[in-house]
Amino acid sequence: MASVRTRLTAAYTAALAGTLVIFTFALLVARTEGNFAELQRSVADQASAAARAIKQSELSNQPVTVPGDKPGSRTVNPMLRIALEGVPSYLLVLDDTGKTLYASFAVRQLTDDDIATLVRTSLRLSATRPSVKVTLGEDQLLLVAREEPGDVQRGARPMRVVAGASTRRVGVIPPEQWTIMLGVAPLLIGVSVWFAWLIAGNALRPVDRVIDEVEAITDGRSLHRRLNVEDRGDELDRLAATLNEMIARLETSFSALRRFTADASHELKTPLTVMRADVERAMQVPSGSGDQLVALEEALAESARMADLVDSLLTLARADEGRFEVHREPVYLEPLVRDVAETAHILGESQGIDIALPVMEDALVMGDRARLRQLLLNLITNAIKYTAAGGSVEIALSRRIDGVSVSVRDTGIGISAADLPFVFERFWRADRARSRASERGGFGLGLAIAKWIAQAHGGTLSVTSRLGRGSTFTVLLPLAADVSRPDGEPALSDDGAARPAGERSIGIS
Ligand code: ADP
Repeated sequence: MASVRTRLTAAYTAALAGTLVIFTFALLVARTEGNFAELQRSVADQASAAARAIKQSELSNQPVTVPGDKPGSRTVNPMLRIALEGVPSYLLVLDDTGKTLYASFAVRQLTDDDIATLVRTSLRLSATRPSVKVTLGEDQLLLVAREEPGDVQRGARPMRVVAGASTRRVGVIPPEQWTIMLGVAPLLIGVSVWFAWLIAGNALRPVDRVIDEVEAITDGRSLHRRLNVEDRGDELDRLAATLNEMIARLETSFSALRRFTADASHELKTPLTVMRADVERAMQVPSGSGDQLVALEEALAESARMADLVDSLLTLARADEGRFEVHREPVYLEPLVRDVAETAHILGESQGIDIALPVMEDALVMGDRARLRQLLLNLITNAIKYTAAGGSVEIALSRRIDGVSVSVRDTGIGISAADLPFVFERFWRADRARSRASERGGFGLGLAIAKWIAQAHGGTLSVTSRLGRGSTFTVLLPLAADVSRPDGEPALSDDGAARPAGERSIGIS
């Protein structure tokens, strides 16, 4: 494929050559028309000059016509004949009956047939049609007539003067013009092509520069660099700005990927180290000892944590790939929320936290029951985890114009304004060290999963919080089209059995 520069130059050359051909053609047409008008003028002048000579002859009191050579014929007087011979080209003087009184030398050279045609055509000319073209053999003549009314008092009769000239040379281009056209046109095209090549090269140079810069940036290590935007406001500036935005997004996703991998390996490293130490310890002590049991218990707990982590990672990875299916069915939220609240009561009781359900307005949504349960459980276990004993957690289910909202409000430790934008990020935890060491220790994936579930249902998950005062997480889901609730909607007692694998990790994270 030829380069853009070559294609631009070729297109320009074709356009220029086309324009030149059209221009030359238009010039030829204009020139032919001009030549024809010029010829018509000169023939008319000749006819007028002959008519003037006849008038002159009438005024000189001599008879304009005298008997001719043939019996009964008439011809113009000798003085007038001499004057008319001065008119070049074709000239005919006819009397009012159509008889020829004078024929110029050029007419006399024609064949009898051509002369007859000439006379016939001349007689067809009139005041309303003073000129006409006639073809004689291979030539074509333009004829122009003038009427000479004749002086009745002097006995002169009306006459018709017809002058003519060949139109053959009207459309002929002189050789010198051909030389100019054929010599100059290629030169003109050559120079223009050269200019077009230079201009196209110049115009495309910034594009080359952008390509080089992008190549240098996208080698993988220089994503922090940006293209030069020169503020000219042209297409190239827009291209550079768009590419810069794309590179910025690439940089963000690459660093997120790197962070994600680093975090995942870090999270997996600690339980593996603990497990290894525990197993080693268990192998060194005599069997059945209390130490061995402790080590094995710890190994079991760590392997459960790792399984949870791997489950959560898998859930998110599948969600990212779009491979996680959300099975939609009509779900009444009130029974679902009450069921989750049951679990919350059990968890809260052991932590000394009061669970309340102040508002419960049932609503129907189209969703995946298991996933919605997982979402609510994540929020509620977090609320219990991050609330000190004696605090309270409120779960409210209310219908709104724009959908149904489930909010989980706690009176716990809260989240600082600076941390708030990051809570839904993967592996993010407000205080990593403390979180990991304490029994609260989660992986920082629960909220990321919760947010994904809300979004997969066409809803949102938002948070408001004040450090030390508590937090409120609100899920907003679109309502299903009004479906009347069937009698005996099964209580969601079978939920435990239907629990997805990922749910466990969130429940205890
Ligand atoms: P984790 O498993 O660490 O709880 P999450 O994704 O569920 O992971 O939460 C991320 C972080 O957000 C938590 O580590 C915690 O710092 C903060 N957080 C979540 N819920 C609450 C809450 N109800 N109150 C205070 N902080 C919270």
